[in-house]
Amino acid sequence: MRAVVLADSARLETSRAEPTPAPGEVMVRVLTAGVCETDIQLIRGYMGFRGVLGHEFVGVAESGPFAGRRVVGEINCACHACDTCKAGFPTHCPNRTVLGILNHDGAFADRIAVPQANLHLVPDSLPNEIAVFTEPVAAAYQIPAQLAIGTRDRVVVLGDGRLGNLCAQVLAGLSNHVLVVGKHDSKLALLRARGIATAKLGDALDPRMADVVVDCTGSATGLPTALKLVRPRGTIVLKTTVAGSQDLAWAPFVIDEVTLVGSRCGPFDRAIKGLERGEVDVRPLLASRFDLSEGLRALARAQEPGVLKVLLDVSAE
Ligand SMILES: [Zn+2]
Ligand SMILES: [Zn+2]
Repeated sequence: MRAVVLADSARLETSRAEPTPAPGEVMVRVLTAGVCETDIQLIRGYMGFRGVLGHEFVGVAESGPFAGRRVVGEINCACHACDTCKAGFPTHCPNRTVLGILNHDGAFADRIAVPQANLHLVPDSLPNEIAVFTEPVAAAYQIPAQLAIGTRDRVVVLGDGRLGNLCAQVLAGLSNHVLVVGKHDSKLALLRARGIATAKLGDALDPRMADVVVDCTGSATGLPTALKLVRPRGTIVLKTTVAGSQDLAWAPFVIDEVTLVGSRCGPFDRAIKGLERGEVDVRPLLASRFDLSEGLRALARAQEPGVLKVLLDVSAE
C-alpha cells in the first residue's frame, strides 16, 4: 500500500505492507486524512516517532460491527486493563500507543489498523472533509469537559491557528465574551466572520481582564502572556505543548491563586454532534487538498505561513 512514513525524514512509500490488526483491532480503509501541527512537530523530532504518520482521519471499517460504514477513530489505544483505564481515564493509559504518534502506524496510508473500541460512526450528513476534523474538534470540546464555562465568563484564546480557531468556536457557544488574540489578520478575520471578537497581539489589553485564558499558541511566549491576562483566582488552560523547558516566574501562580489546567484529547461523540449541528464550522479552515501520493507536498504546504488545514485524499467511497 501507499504510506507517508517518518524515518530519518518523511518519505512516501508505495509498496509498504498493510498493517496487521492486533486482537480487538479492525482494518480501516482511509478516505481522507488531515495534517496537524503535531505531524509537523513529529517530523522535527518530537516524541522520536518512527512509522506511518497521521492521526486525523475518516475511513470505512472493513471488519467488525461497523464493517462497510464510515468511521472516525480516537487516537489513544489503551490497554483497558490497568488501574488508570479501570478508573475511567483510558487516554492516560500508561501502556497506550497513539495512532501516528507513539508506537502505532497512522492514517497517511491506504489502510490503518484501529481498535474497534476507538471507532465512532460518522452520520451521513457529515461529508468526509468535515468528519476528518472530528479529532481536533474533540480536543476543543475537552475544555468545557474539564471546566465549567458560563455565558458571562470572560474568555481569552491566545493563538489564531487551527486549534485556536476551533477552541474559540466551541467556547463562543458557551460564553458571550470570547476574545481571540492572534498575529494574523486573515486568520482573525475568519473568527470575526463567525461573530467572535479579536485583537492583535501587541494591542493594549487590560491586564487581569480574563476569567479563563486558553493558550493555543504552541509558543513559549503563550504562558507568560496568559499569566498577564488572567484575573486572580482565574484559570489558564494549556492546549498546546512547547518542546523543551521554559523559564517562568512561578510566584504569580501562588500570589494570584491561578489554576493551571492541562488539556489534550477530547470527546468524539460531542465533537460529531457539534459538527452536525454547525456549532463549529470547519470549512473556512480548509486550505488545500492533495492526493496521498502527493503526501510530501501536503506536509510542505501545511508548513507555509497562513495555511490552516491541509487534507490528504486517500481513496474514494
Ligand atoms: Zn492532531
Ligand atoms: Zn491501560
